[in-house]
Amino acid sequence: MDLFDKCRNFTIAREAIAAGIYPYFTTLDDNSEGTEVVIRGRKVIMIGSNNYLGLTTDPRVRQAAIDATQKYGTSCTGSRFLNGTLELHVEAERRLAKFVGKEAALVFSTGMQTNLGTISALVDKGDVVIIDKEDHASIVDGCRLALGTMKRFIHNDMASLEKVLQSCPDSVGKLVVVDGIFSMGGDIAPLPEIAQLCKKYGAHLMVDDAHSLGVLGDHGRGTANHFGLTDQVDLIMGTFSKSFASLGGFIAGDDVVMHYVQHHARSFMFSASIPAANVAAALAALDIMEHEPERIERLWHNTRKMAAGFKALGFNIGESTTPVIPIYIGEDMKAVFAWNALFQAGVYTNTVLPPAVPPNKSLLRTSYMATHTDEQLDRVLEIFERVGKELGLIE
Ligand code: PMP
Repeated sequence: MDLFDKCRNFTIAREAIAAGIYPYFTTLDDNSEGTEVVIRGRKVIMIGSNNYLGLTTDPRVRQAAIDATQKYGTSCTGSRFLNGTLELHVEAERRLAKFVGKEAALVFSTGMQTNLGTISALVDKGDVVIIDKEDHASIVDGCRLALGTMKRFIHNDMASLEKVLQSCPDSVGKLVVVDGIFSMGGDIAPLPEIAQLCKKYGAHLMVDDAHSLGVLGDHGRGTANHFGLTDQVDLIMGTFSKSFASLGGFIAGDDVVMHYVQHHARSFMFSASIPAANVAAALAALDIMEHEPERIERLWHNTRKMAAGFKALGFNIGESTTPVIPIYIGEDMKAVFAWNALFQAGVYTNTVLPPAVPPNKSLLRTSYMATHTDEQLDRVLEIFERVGKELGLIE
């Protein structure tokens, strides 16, 4: 048996490429406009991005990144632990902690690394980490790296969460981790009920707000703020790769916990820190969130318009109540064909196939920006109607 046999036997993606229906690793020739991108020479409307506030192309955010590069160079060439901490990282930690209402924060190099490092640092041998079955892969992988035990509960099912909590002895340390807005379904975790159960069973609560910062709560402060539960959520995780228009991630919580994570999270200690340009861009985005709430209002206008539009056309958007709007297709190949037909017609979505979803529960993930215009969104709905009818997805 050769180690590489599995590579030679992995043919499904090659077959899709040969058939001209492969929906992944699409090269964008130009995405400088944000809401419209150029792919293979054609302009298409982008509804597959996490750029919720449309800030990746904002002149102030771009300029902040340019200025920081001029001042600090292109890389920190070392980990936060050693030579890679700039005053900018520390300022970002101070401001992010304040923004989400926590004592302290730590900036990691990505959101993925934030979840890997935080969960594995905190969930030690003998501890239990309890996660929703639809939590993001970075949470699952953080649990896999942790020395404690991972348990899962049925998505947003409080009876299932309680059953899992009941099965844990009182004596063990417990951490419950949920997405604030679920990255594929676009539904919101029922934090009031989750926080109550955590209190009842002595568990700590961590919320991954990757898709909620800049979207939910006062000025986009996230899910805990949205429910008025900031004090009952112990750890708030965020990423810069969505509303913050950059790259990086952070965890916020009590000072004593951040101090521990800072000295135990391996993905924090053994990976280079993000360059000044990424921190400066995220800080510029944070300034805009704090001063321009009308952007968030516009994002919600677009969200309501699209949810209502898809429902009126007869598409199944599941339980989504946020700017992440899945279009449930079902059959895997049908989803691939739908993606391709929409792309040919001028709309870029994301196809989500097993193993990211159960077999034959495939979907097209769509998501909206504050900067999409009504005209662009009307055009998206027109195209969905035409393609949906052609492919028999709607009547
Ligand atoms: N958590 C969630 C819920 C996410 O959707 C993502 C990215 N899609 C991450 C964490 C990881 O963030 P990053 O892209 O910064 O690694």
